[in-house]
Amino acid sequence: QAKATGPGVFRTYQQGLDKHAKENLEIASLLRGAADRGELELHFQPLMDLRSGKPVAAEALLRWTSPELGSVSPGRFIPVAEEAGLIRKLGAWVLQNACLSAAAWQSVAPCRVAVNVSSLQLQAPQEFLDCIEQALAISNLSPRLLELEITEGVLLADRRDIANLLDTLDGMGVHLSLDDFGTGYSALSYLRRFPFHVLKIDRSFIADVPETEEDAELTRAIVAMGQALGLTVLAEGVERAEQADFLTAAGCDLVQGFLYSRPLPLDAFTALIGSGELALASA
Ligand code: C2E
Ligand code: MG
Ligand code: MG
Ligand code: MG
Repeated sequence: QAKATGPGVFRTYQQGLDKHAKENLEIASLLRGAADRGELELHFQPLMDLRSGKPVAAEALLRWTSPELGSVSPGRFIPVAEEAGLIRKLGAWVLQNACLSAAAWQSVAPCRVAVNVSSLQLQAPQEFLDCIEQALAISNLSPRLLELEITEGVLLADRRDIANLLDTLDGMGVHLSLDDFGTGYSALSYLRRFPFHVLKIDRSFIADVPETEEDAELTRAIVAMGQALGLTVLAEGVERAEQADFLTAAGCDLVQGFLYSRPLPLDAFTALIGSGELALASA
């Protein structure tokens, strides 16, 4: 123990932190102008209905290719954007482009678009609502074709103004999903307080089903609980036919994962849903 926390170890740890902080600064300063320089793109991944075998929605996933840094994953740059105060502007870009894309693919298939929303965007409720209304107006997309994916966070459940915002969106016909269910702290109080339609089971629960009995039991229990509350239940991260068979038997409603399709650029996604070739692998 004494050796592991010696001065040498501390120096390396400190250097690691410095390097990380420096990288964050670089990411933040390059990300600031990324949208204007055309470095951002949305990819789309279908959410498949296990009963009809058809896609009912597509999740918009942000991609950034920087000439300086190469392609940076959202898992890396979204937290930096949140920290640097860039997420609201970035979120507005995503909403607008997601709605425009969804409007464009309606002639091919009636598929909703699901947009990830940072809890920081919700913390400015009026600005967020304006942003949604603007994106819907510019794209002429029906609110019923927009879905917002919200992750659990400790701070949100107690805020009356955020509950009001979500009620307003629900009233407009916008779908609300609780993303990454099972990984946060306040999931159950969220379900009680907010008008969610969809519950997305985090992919960490799905990774080892059906082989790992505990995960299988938990997944079955979450499906049953979600449905008892009147929610549509989706399983994320489905990669293997065995997982899909298990989820079908468990009565899960929707699935999403590499088994059906990777996230694709708009043109490829539109071609895929238009081709009729997108179907459940093991139906
Ligand atoms: P998420 O919302 O849970 O999105 C699902 C992630 O799982 C995506 O990663 C997707 O590519 C990945 N995925 C889908 N199917 C599979 C599968 O079968 N196996 C595996 N291993 N992974 C799968 P991605 O695109 O790297 O995004 C990571 C996270 O970044 C997202 O997690 C979301 O929290 C965040 N994110 C992405 N785009 C946006 C955005 O526009 N705004 C905000 N606020 N967050 C975003
Ligand atoms: Mg999501
Ligand atoms: Mg998710
Ligand atoms: Mg996830």
